Amino acid sequence: MEYVDTHVHLDDARYDADREAVLERARAEGVGTLVSIGTSLEDSRWAAEFVRGREGLHAAVGVHPELASGYDPARRGEFEALLRDPKVVAVGEVGLDAHRPGADLELQERVLRDMLALARGAGRPLVVHVREAVGRLLEVLREDWDPALGGVFHCFSGDLATARAAMDLNFDLAVGGVLTFKNAGALREVVAGVPLERLVLETDGPWLAPQERRGGRNEPAYVPSVARCLAGIKGLPLERVAEQTTANARRLFRLGAVQGGAEQTRGWA
Ligand SMILES: [Zn+2]
Repeated sequence: MEYVDTHVHLDDARYDADREAVLERARAEGVGTLVSIGTSLEDSRWAAEFVRGREGLHAAVGVHPELASGYDPARRGEFEALLRDPKVVAVGEVGLDAHRPGADLELQERVLRDMLALARGAGRPLVVHVREAVGRLLEVLREDWDPALGGVFHCFSGDLATARAAMDLNFDLAVGGVLTFKNAGALREVVAGVPLERLVLETDGPWLAPQERRGGRNEPAYVPSVARCLAGIKGLPLERVAEQTTANARRLFRLGAVQGGAEQTRGWA
């Protein structure tokens, strides 16, 4: 079975001691394809460089809303340069996050709109991070986004109405370790109502390890435990969930099909 980890932070220092072993374990579990996500110019550059020449590995570049104050719009050209690489398959993670007291949502929104322009210019899908600000985020997307480019709401945790609003804007929904948490019954109910064709898998490693490892370091090798949980929710065989979520992720990030072991990433004109 083949899985895609659509959201992992491979740059994180918690992988420094055993990054290659992490990737090896992932491959052994069928997770040979993944997207390493950026949250700043620095780690975006790291991700783009790390995935170069590595089959199955891809990068996303962008500015996380909680790091908005570290973004210098004068350096947008450096993101544009990273996006010329076909291995850089998306812009993200970008969005709005009102969780922390004193969060500067006006600043976050300015940076978000800059990131939307970046993605539109590069013709790339969007990896969205949103916490406690989904109403405003949907407004910004309706005003300033091209749904034809696609995208994903990472670590989806909203209600069914939010899921529908995101899907109306042509976003897929990503589920990870949180889906397996004992206290995530409400999320499992929402996910039961979302078509399998709009769901992708992620870890958000090193954060949010699944229930059986909750609190520990997460890594791409744990994607199958999310898939097993999703198969239970949908009442479907694991094979079907693996196949469909992998196809969804390949569509979302425009990844070529694996043929004879050689993966082709489609280039952008
Ligand atoms: Zn993340």
